[in-house]
Amino acid sequence: MFSILLSVGAIMTWNDNWADNASCKGARPDELFVRGAAQNRVKQICGQCPVKTECLAEALDNNMEWGVWGGTTERERRALLRRRPNVTSWRGLLEAAREQHVAAVVTVGGNTQVVAS
Ligand code: SF4
Repeated sequence: MFSILLSVGAIMTWNDNWADNASCKGARPDELFVRGAAQNRVKQICGQCPVKTECLAEALDNNMEWGVWGGTTERERRALLRRRPNVTSWRGLLEAAREQHVAAVVTVGGNTQVVAS
C-alpha cells in the first residue's frame, strides 16, 4: 500500500525539471532525432519514461516540429494540434487530465493495479 501512495504522489506532481528525469537523458541528438522506422525505437524508450507527459506538453506548447517527444512523432503531434486547435496550453490540459485521472483512481479505493499505471 505504501508504494501505491508514493506512485500517486509521483503521478500528481508536475515535474518542471522534467529533462533531468528523462529516460533519454544522456542520449545523443542523432539517436533521438531520427526519421521513419527508427522512431519506433525511440518511442520504446519513451514508453517507460517518468516524464513522458511533461515532454509531450513541452513539444505541443512549443510546436516542436522534429523528433519524438513524449512518445509521439511529429506527424502524431501535428494530428493532435489539428484535432484540438483551441488548446492554448497543452501543459494545462494534460496536467488537469492527469490530476483528474489520479483523483478517479483514489476514489476507486486503491484496490486495483490501476494506481500504478
Ligand atoms: S518521453 Fe521520450 S523523448 Fe521525452 S524525455 Fe522521455 S524518453 Fe525523452
